[in-house]
Parts: sequence; C-alpha cells; structure tokens
Amino acid sequence: MNHSEAAQLDAQYYMNTFGPRLPIMPVRGEGAVLYDDTGAAYVDLLAGIAVNALGYGHPALTKAVTQQAEDLLHCCNYFYTPQQARLAEALCKNSCADRVFFCNSGAEANEAAIKLARAYYYRKGEPRFGIISANNSFHGRTLATVTATAQKKYQEPFAPLPAGFSYVPYGDADALKEALWPSTAAVILEPIQGEGGVIEGGKSYLKAVRDICDQTGTLLIFDEVQCGMGRTGKLFAFENYGVEPDIFTLAKALGGGVPIGAVLCKEFCSAFVPGDHGTTFGGNPLACAAALAVLGEMTKEGFLDSVAEKGELLKDLMRDIKKKYPALVLDVRGRGLMIGVQLDEKLPVKEVQLALIKEGFIAGTAGGNVLRLVPPLVIEEAQLQAFAAALDKVIGERA
Ligand code: PLP
Repeated sequence: MNHSEAAQLDAQYYMNTFGPRLPIMPVRGEGAVLYDDTGAAYVDLLAGIAVNALGYGHPALTKAVTQQAEDLLHCCNYFYTPQQARLAEALCKNSCADRVFFCNSGAEANEAAIKLARAYYYRKGEPRFGIISANNSFHGRTLATVTATAQKKYQEPFAPLPAGFSYVPYGDADALKEALWPSTAAVILEPIQGEGGVIEGGKSYLKAVRDICDQTGTLLIFDEVQCGMGRTGKLFAFENYGVEPDIFTLAKALGGGVPIGAVLCKEFCSAFVPGDHGTTFGGNPLACAAALAVLGEMTKEGFLDSVAEKGELLKDLMRDIKKKYPALVLDVRGRGLMIGVQLDEKLPVKEVQLALIKEGFIAGTAGGNVLRLVPPLVIEEAQLQAFAAALDKVIGERA
C-alpha cells in the first residue's frame, strides 16, 4: 500500500481527528533515520513526538520486545510479573519517588496523578480537591486532563468540563500564590512546556512553586511525559532545577515506542487503596520489558551526558541560524534534545516543516509558530549538522 492508498482508506474510515497527515508514509527505521514506502530516507527530529528515544531498531529494545513477545505478551494485574516488579524498582531507585503505578499513555498518567492528589486529601479527611495548572499547558485528552490543559481550543466541544480546575500564567509564582485556595489539592506543571512551544519554567520559578506548595501543604505534580526520560540530559527534567515533585508522570519515551505511562509518587502521598484505581493493559509484561530496556540504556555510563552535549550542539547550530536570519527566527530555547525554534508569523512553521521533508528531514511543530526538535536521543552529531544545513537552506530560500 502506498501513501495515497492509505490516505484514501483513512479518509473513508478513520475519524477525522488528525486532518491531512504528512506527505510521507514511514515503513521502517534505523537509528535516527526513517524510511518511507518508496525507500526514501529521512533524518527524524520528531521521534514519534518525543517517543522513540532509542531511535529505530535499537538492538537492546528489539531483543527485549521480541523475547517478551515469545514468552508472554500480556497477563493482567491479578498476577505479579517480574518485568513489572523490576521496572517499578528501577524507576523508584533512579528517582525521588517511592511508588509507581503503570498505565498506557501520558493522559492516563496525568489522570491518575489528579485522582491520586484528590484521594490523598480524601483519605486525610480534608476537603481539598482543586487542581491548578498553567496557561498554555498540555496534559492530555481525557476529560480531566483536557480540563487541566489550559487551552480553550482543546476544551470547547467537551463542556461541561469536570469541576475544580483553575489556571495561572506559567512562570509567575506570585500569580500561583494568589490563585491558591484552602481547597486546592495540587498544582500540576510541565517543567518544560512542550506542546505550548518549548518553554522552560526555569529554576527560580520551579523552586518558588515548590516553596509555595510546601508552605500551603499543596501537592506538586510535575508532568514529565514529554520532557522526562533522558530528553534534557538528565533522566528526569526536574533534576536540572534541584526541585523534587511529590508526584510526577511519565509516558512517551518510557517504552521507547511501546505504549506505557507511569505515575510516581513519594510514600507520604501514596494514597490509593485496593479498588481506587486500576487498568487492564497498564504495566503488562511487554510494555515493562520494553521500558526496562530503555531505562537500562539510558542509565549506562555516558548516555545522558551525550544527550546534554548533543543538545548544546543543536542549540548552538540553531542560534547560528537565528543570528543569520534575525527577522525570521525570533528565539531558540529549550534544554538537551528538546529544542524550540520560534519563527516569525510571516514564516509559518507548517511551511518550514513541509520544506524540510523535501530536504529529507522530519521536524515537529508546537504552539506559537515553533519548530519543535525532539529527536531520538541516539541521533548523531553529523545528523544534527546536516539538519542545521537543511534548515538554513529552507529559511534562506524564504528570507
Ligand atoms: N503531557 C504532556 C506534557 C504531553 O506532551 C502529552 C502529549 O503530547 C501528554 C501529556 C499526553 O500524552 P498522551 O498523548 O500519551 O496521552
């Protein structure tokens, strides 16, 4: 089946949630390179939206998944499994968390985090249920997480939304202080906003938020679905700022392409009791085997340092382009291999994305006319250099 045959079937049978898709159809990959149905190669700086951290065909991940597929794909949570038990231990030992619950996606992880925060106060007998999130955030598409996602465009058709959510400007600790009510249970924030345009909260803001939460007994939830799992050059983005959350969520890169999400928390707020929460697929042997392989690679000596180094290189390369085209490239920001290049409105990011595909490169987009670069963490320096040359050409042709 070629691209247009797939597009025809999609137009007839698939719900129109994604609109017209990109003009190439990936069929296989190797390292940071995707190949389409015609055999053309593309260096991928999107990675399935920050998912394929180990790239394509990584031997450790492929081996773990194929071995697990041969042994046991799924058994439900009525049973203990070694893969789930080991992954829970490994994530807790490598983070500030004491407990974990596995699910299947980022939205589910955030949904669980919101439920956990409310369950914590319910069990304490305190009437605290409010959830505060930041404008421009993205936390998922379930009803609670789309409500936490403070962007009207994602919410409007789904009213009435669940009660108890309110919003503050991102990066403004004073506004958060004012927005807190005695009934506020938790604040949920992305340490680096992804969909919103790759915007870093920054150390002083996140530290101030931590202090405000401590002073008011409010739980602090970090959504690390996009910025976590090695992307910033640390295993978890919050490590960059010296600020620990009470609860945090993971998904995307955790399974390296196999769907898995997780909510992790400190012991004191591990409030779920049997029956409160559950899942059929979450934490099944296949997903946990994949995540163990991903975590195993990321915790190898030098892996995260190389992400940080490549991130610096990518940022420098993008800054050079900004210097060359100051009227079209307004900002370069982000951390590690999560970089945003904000373009002027007269150069629509979608146009740049499509032009880059013609040059053999796949890049992402984000809110605020931002080119979002979240490549596989195994991308090579030469591939980053080649991407920068292609972007230079694409912007140069439009300058
Ligand atoms: N949280 C953040 C920060 C995200 O970037 C996303 C997805 O882009 C989600 C949550 C939702 O994750 P999922 O699409 O796996 O439900």
